[in-house]
Amino acid sequence: MQPSLPLTCPTIDEETIAGVAEVLRSGWITSGPKVKAFEAALSTLFGGRPVRAFNSGTATLEVALRLAGVGPGDEVITTPLSWVATSNVILTVGARPVFVDIDPVTRNIDLARIESAISPATKAIIPVDLAGLPVDRDRLYEIAKRHGLRVVEDAAQSMGSSWRGQLIGSIGDLVSFSFHPNKNLTSIEGGCLVMTSEAEAKLAEQYRLQGVVRTGMDGMDVEVLGGKFNLTDVAARVGLGQLVRLDEFTSKRRELVRAYFAQLDMPAVHALGLGLPIADFTQSNWHMFQVVLPENAALTRAEVMAKLQVLGIGTGVHYPAIHRFTLYRSLGHAEGDYPLAEAVASRILTLPLFPSMTLADVSRVTEALIQVLQA
Ligand SMILES: *Cc1c(COP(=O)(O)O)cnc(C)c1O
Repeated sequence: MQPSLPLTCPTIDEETIAGVAEVLRSGWITSGPKVKAFEAALSTLFGGRPVRAFNSGTATLEVALRLAGVGPGDEVITTPLSWVATSNVILTVGARPVFVDIDPVTRNIDLARIESAISPATKAIIPVDLAGLPVDRDRLYEIAKRHGLRVVEDAAQSMGSSWRGQLIGSIGDLVSFSFHPNKNLTSIEGGCLVMTSEAEAKLAEQYRLQGVVRTGMDGMDVEVLGGKFNLTDVAARVGLGQLVRLDEFTSKRRELVRAYFAQLDMPAVHALGLGLPIADFTQSNWHMFQVVLPENAALTRAEVMAKLQVLGIGTGVHYPAIHRFTLYRSLGHAEGDYPLAEAVASRILTLPLFPSMTLADVSRVTEALIQVLQA
């Protein structure tokens, strides 16, 4: 049963729907002029840096790792508190994920712990801006530079976020975004990679489509092993319709989160032991609003979620700690290895947040949550 207030919901306007219909009637529906236009618009957004689009954020991350030269025998440092795609792609290219515990306040990778995880095999770092809260880019790049490491920013959740006034994507090394429907900007499925040079972008195009390089009217060669990661024009047209509304979406999310704080950041709620995120209204795009349920609560998280569902409110878990999954345990990662991530992951709960939500919806969620926690 779909709750009357879902966890999230994309905003697709009529202009975008009409634009998609136009693409479908045009006779060219896969990668073509709309993908080029989407890439150009994204590049403009990111200060003119080279950008290429892919058919998922996962494909985007995989290509980024290949561009960074990550492969068998290499180690990549990342966070255990993310969507599993972040570390799956490290395995896909044949490398080994090395997890570093989180800072429970930001819920992002703890930069103070990164250097002790660096070994001679370390090739790259994949930081994740969980819920859109940016990892400290100054400290991150200071560490990467000192150790000669590439950075693949998993900015899947931070489209529209910024660091010290600069948009995420306009600064840094390789920056990967996702356009999954739950993300702040969607192309149904899709993603894009911001790169450091046109040469890198040309190579990304090869990894994107079977390694193919075309010359002249009839020339074709294959130099590297590429995949099938190209975005369709239908998807790109959806993305273009979203991009012009990005600032509006971000402002609306921030406004809704201010209401969440107004209703939850108070003594009566603190007394319940509910953990709130950092109240950042300038840098985070508020991809998600996540609370951490009280320790030793009378109800389990699953019970809280079920009670909210009965009240018509959708919630989610973002995310279970990656190192505890069977696949990762089979690779030598163990329960207890990253206790701070485990503690947050076991009690974190994502509340509804999306641009078409109303302030009344926020009140409905907070009243229901307080009622459930007090029971
Ligand atoms: C969504 C997401 C991805 C993967 O993106 P897809 O488009 O679903 O492939 C990777 N990392 C993080 C942190 C994400 O949130």
